[in-house]
Amino acid sequence: MALTGLQIYKLLPQTNCKQCGFPTCLAFAMKLAAKQAELAACPYVSEASKAQLEAAAQPPVRLITVATGDRKAQAGNEIVLFRHEKTFYNRAPIFVRVKDTDADLAATAKTINEFAVDYVGIKLMIDGLAIENASGDAGKFAAAVEAVRGATNFPLILIAKDVAAFEAALAKANGATPMLYAADASNWQAMAAVAKKFKAPLAVKADGLDALATLTEQIKGAGVEDLVLDPGARDFLGTLTLATQIRRLAIKKNFRALGYPIITFPGEGAGSAGEEPSLAAQQIGKYAGFVVLDTFTPASAYALLVLRQNIYTDPQKPIQVQPGLYEINNPKPESPVLVTTNFSITYFSISNEVEGAGLPAWLLVADAEGMSVLTAWAAGKFDADRIAKAVKTTGVEGKISNKRLVLPGAVAVLMGEVEEALAGWKIEVGPREAVDVPAFLKFKA
Ligand code: SF4
Repeated sequence: MALTGLQIYKLLPQTNCKQCGFPTCLAFAMKLAAKQAELAACPYVSEASKAQLEAAAQPPVRLITVATGDRKAQAGNEIVLFRHEKTFYNRAPIFVRVKDTDADLAATAKTINEFAVDYVGIKLMIDGLAIENASGDAGKFAAAVEAVRGATNFPLILIAKDVAAFEAALAKANGATPMLYAADASNWQAMAAVAKKFKAPLAVKADGLDALATLTEQIKGAGVEDLVLDPGARDFLGTLTLATQIRRLAIKKNFRALGYPIITFPGEGAGSAGEEPSLAAQQIGKYAGFVVLDTFTPASAYALLVLRQNIYTDPQKPIQVQPGLYEINNPKPESPVLVTTNFSITYFSISNEVEGAGLPAWLLVADAEGMSVLTAWAAGKFDADRIAKAVKTTGVEGKISNKRLVLPGAVAVLMGEVEEALAGWKIEVGPREAVDVPAFLKFKA
């Protein structure tokens, strides 16, 4: 758990020698607590204090990476229980399970890999495949991994019961670092050895938290640090209860034995196939690290990816688009110029309406620090000066013959000031709602 400035100060030499570049040890401690300084800047800190400070600097939930080349699926590094306390950092990667007995695995992998959702300018995709050794045959398992690797660069989770299957599959992983699922009380020594040999993250399965904590400590003692937890429960109440307890123990009690991301299999707990998305949604909210779906459909994947995006969006940082001049439907010099802010949802509301109506227009996006129109206006981030600056910096004047600028209806009050700031422009007040913009443009054409 992170230490406060005062707690850090007690571990420093307290001589105020200034060699760290700060006037006092306390000032240095405060900077360390704010993560604006490096401990290495103090040459006099004792080894014991260093060990204590470094241990405290570790995140309560270890970051686990499953990678294939540059493509990574990461979970962990979370430091809060609730998003409103700060933010969640690593979106729970969503995997789809396939089996080495499935026909045409390469084609299935390609189809899932090509699925993408464009959500307010953000491309959302399935993060990886979990390949299960359902055949029980190591050769078939290796061939399945080879087929998927040949077709995609998906990060992988390998699911098997014996080490020989893992060894065969990892030999065909072609540079990928898959997660291995799973070590349990009966096989952990062998599983730990293979995970250590291939430097692969290892999922650990046990029924209940006591057994799970004992097992993670044993495996850690065997030299494998990158662990993922499966506490055994599969149903709605069981997964919610155990995931919440694990997260609370990791964050509030700094209980290192359970300070790892959780893996879930919502398809195994659903009473029917239709329940899987609901259980996955619950687990994405609280507190899955890796989610492995049994069923892939574009409709449920779309809903889960958008839900996850919303949960893992930092509430302190609005989703923004780049300020600038956007062309909609090949605008001509006489086409109108609409102005709005760079809040993503505002931008896409307007651009989708105008584009969908087939109307050509220039969309001038002013830098309003990612706020929506009314919020930005109230905060002084969307005013005549900012609009005039956007007009001048984007060079829109050189592209149009008709200096006609349409303000959002919600800030009609700015009309006079914008007219003064933009001499020679005709300023019009558009509708308050994006949905009314096409009708407005048609009426004014
Ligand atoms: S170098 Fe170390 S001992 Fe000296 S002022 Fe900085 S923190 Fe204190």
